[in-house]
Amino acid sequence: MTPQFNFDNSYARLPARFYTRQAPSPVAKPGIMRVNTKLALELGLDPAELIAPDGLAILAGNAVPEGAEPLAQVYAGHQFGGWSPQLGDGRAVLLGELMTPKGRFDLQLKGSGQTPYSRMGDGRAWLGPVMREYIVSEAMHALSIPTTRALAAVTTGEVVMRERRYPGAVLTRIARSHIRVGTFQYFAAKQDVEALQTLCDHVIARHYPKADGPLGLLNAVIEAQAMLIAKWMAVGFIHGVMNTDNMSIAGETIDYGPCAFMDTYHPETVFSSIDHNGRYAYARQPDVAVWNLAQLATALLPLLGEREAAIERATEAVHRFPALFATAWQDTFRAKLGLTTPEQDDPELIQSLLDRMAHGQADFTNTFRALGKPEARDQFTDPTAYDTWAEVWQTRLAREGRSVDDALTLIARVNPAIIARNHRVEQAIAAGLNGDLVAFHTLTEALQTPFADHPGFAAPPGKDEAVTQTFCGT
Ligand code: AMP
Ligand code: MG
Repeated sequence: MTPQFNFDNSYARLPARFYTRQAPSPVAKPGIMRVNTKLALELGLDPAELIAPDGLAILAGNAVPEGAEPLAQVYAGHQFGGWSPQLGDGRAVLLGELMTPKGRFDLQLKGSGQTPYSRMGDGRAWLGPVMREYIVSEAMHALSIPTTRALAAVTTGEVVMRERRYPGAVLTRIARSHIRVGTFQYFAAKQDVEALQTLCDHVIARHYPKADGPLGLLNAVIEAQAMLIAKWMAVGFIHGVMNTDNMSIAGETIDYGPCAFMDTYHPETVFSSIDHNGRYAYARQPDVAVWNLAQLATALLPLLGEREAAIERATEAVHRFPALFATAWQDTFRAKLGLTTPEQDDPELIQSLLDRMAHGQADFTNTFRALGKPEARDQFTDPTAYDTWAEVWQTRLAREGRSVDDALTLIARVNPAIIARNHRVEQAIAAGLNGDLVAFHTLTEALQTPFADHPGFAAPPGKDEAVTQTFCGT
């Protein structure tokens, strides 16, 4: 019953300065919290084997599977705008790359003990952040948003010290890769052009085989990020810690630390306890993406030809982001309004609804879900603000030759009925700390079908339930 993994470890074949070989540190007493059966099957793994003792030992870091070449990746990054020349996997190890029917995927353990990049950290994770990442990353996937995945969560039987004692846990993460903007920055800062070129070739072969050289790669990442951030905006997702080391080159949502979905709509919403200036507020995410992509462009400069021409090419590429994002944003929000054909004034129509939602303290998810139904106006403190907007919207629908009723099908297909509301995530974590994983399981399962109605999970938090702050997953 030992799980067999079909490894092909291309990152481990890169030069030694890309990583440090590092086995996971064993834990006292592994226990299964949850295994993602559907994902395991998609990856060609047998979920029953993962839960069995040999599988559990691997998920906890107590055994290294055959063919794995565990390592900690090195990277750098701008954290809240400040430069850190050396970061890296401080509490994670890459076991290897799985060759699956769906392609190549990193198999990583998070919370697996110290590495040379742990700095002052213990290399461990506690139950809360592991549950949050499991719930939210799988919810994002069910919303068709590119993301790292959660294959399993296990308890360690050990205590993790934070502001108090917490039970330890390890998350098994699946990703197209864990290469970040910060990975390029690391080598650029060292003026290691050879490594930059090697990394560039590796990433093109792995993620963007159609890209023509470093400029093609830069453009491809810019496109992927524009699509990704538009999708975040469309579901009210706030990443919370969009540092360059938390921006995936493959265009997946990565690093579920202080992330949250917005309940009441407001563009300046911030959850992260450490984001004092609102740098990563909801509406700033597209601008932050540009800033981060400018750092990637800067890192790639040595590969883009003679300096002045290189700067021009890089600048031009980064300047493509706003238009790419605007198109993606309009496309996703147009569909949210049940509209199918673009019109010039669509951005104003969308923005007008959002402005009224902000003013009327409307719930983001429930308002879009209820568009065209009587419940929509109930979301607003001043329902007439919705009514006057809805009149314009109906005229717009009529120009497509459709009624509100015709639009309801598309509205229900693209606007989720449920998101991973912060208070539900926190309730699941609180119960988990008391040894009760029922809320974790039921919430995770409901979020697998976000476009079906789940009356028990749709309500925004009551006054005493609202969670306004989230904490980094350390
Ligand atoms: P994050 O804010 O989660 O993106 O983490 C930033 C950096 O801190 C990364 O290099 C992490 O590996 C490292 N780090 C975070 N938490 C820990 C921990 N408990 N032990 C060691 N390193 C950590
Ligand atoms: Mg990180």
